[in-house]
Amino acid sequence: MNKVVKFGGSSLASAEQFQKVGQIIRADEARKYVVPSAPGKRFEKDIKVTDMLYHCYEAAEKGEAFDRQFMAIKARYQEIIDGLNLDLSLEEEFHLIEEQFKQGAGKDYAASRGEYLNGIVIANYLGYEFIDAAQVIVFTEDGLYDDEKTMEKLSARLENVERAVIPGFYGAMEDGRVKTFSRGGSDITGSIVAKAVRADLYENWTDVSGFLLADPRIIFNPEVIETITYRELRELSYMGATVLHEDAIFPVRSMGIPINIRNTNKPEDPGTLIVESTCRLPRYTITGIAGKKGFVAINIEKDMMNSEIGFGRKVLSVFEENGISFEHMPSGIDTLTVFVHQDEFVEKEQKILAELHRVVNPDLIDLEADLALVAVVGRGMRATRGTAGRIFSALAHANVNVKMIDQGSSELNIIIGVSNRDFEAAIKAIYDIFVTIQL
Ligand code: ASP
Repeated sequence: MNKVVKFGGSSLASAEQFQKVGQIIRADEARKYVVPSAPGKRFEKDIKVTDMLYHCYEAAEKGEAFDRQFMAIKARYQEIIDGLNLDLSLEEEFHLIEEQFKQGAGKDYAASRGEYLNGIVIANYLGYEFIDAAQVIVFTEDGLYDDEKTMEKLSARLENVERAVIPGFYGAMEDGRVKTFSRGGSDITGSIVAKAVRADLYENWTDVSGFLLADPRIIFNPEVIETITYRELRELSYMGATVLHEDAIFPVRSMGIPINIRNTNKPEDPGTLIVESTCRLPRYTITGIAGKKGFVAINIEKDMMNSEIGFGRKVLSVFEENGISFEHMPSGIDTLTVFVHQDEFVEKEQKILAELHRVVNPDLIDLEADLALVAVVGRGMRATRGTAGRIFSALAHANVNVKMIDQGSSELNIIIGVSNRDFEAAIKAIYDIFVTIQL
């Protein structure tokens, strides 16, 4: 048995948190490869080390003094080293980093030092080997992650290493320049390491006990999702539910390795298991509810539209040429509606309308703004009759007017368009009918 364990910033924010992490790792022999984030927030108003590094580097780049900020970063690590009673000095590392800052080593290099230093600290604390991610995670010259080369290097490097720490978030291009993933990218590194060692499980330790069935800002104390498939997760995270970086599922998914989201502060909780597929049905027909506000519906009408070949393509080409992606496109006999993000659309609105008139010559174009989309996601819906019926009667009882319905052919989700102001009420009504009341 062999597990890759990734710990997020809040799990490694202080010596006390490090101790919890140490206990978790020592509790299971299989936890052989550790991927740390940089120290995160210790309390609500605290600043993450990654953000401190970005600020510090910005000052250095402008030629401004950055020693005060640099000292504050040093102090964060020293507090951890002292709190753990480690025989370790990062003095030389900091000296080198300071030099590199002065020489303009690059923003990515600067940001990556948070994980790099934390990796050294945790490797020392655990007695594991430290492997610099710049040696094993490869990016192309264009700054894109190169999976093929990484797998070659990383698998070879880890082949005879029993236990190791590989810092998250960064790698390097072939010329040695450090490159980071986007924010939250240590999740991706964890997934890559799990793929390279063909792990049995990728554990992602954070500060929540898994994915919640709905947004806790809308639903009081929502239930945790026990098991979710990769496809369901994609639907939910696309629609706004975040815990894991969305690119983190691809490396493990291709190898059928499950991900377990766990809580460092409550290691007894089982968390959420993310799997390729499962015959275990979710407890409540639906797996989760998510949604986003801020859409516009562009409703296009034209007599005999349904017999005009190429109508849809011409409409969509206008959006494509304006660099706008569409979310949904429900259609009727002589009508077609395109849902797009309002903030992307507004600035190009008149240009797009003019082009639509030119290419498809519609009878009418009508806009409806301030709409929200709610996604009800669940592999269990396929096997259950009446799911849609329950959703819509719940919405009717909550006085929510449904403006659009879109059920994907996978029967994995039902997307409902409502007005922005009904968004919270819609989510509450759906949560209640499936989870609270369980009708
Ligand atoms: N430390 C980085 C960030 O704050 C990467 C990570 O934590 O995953 O985004």
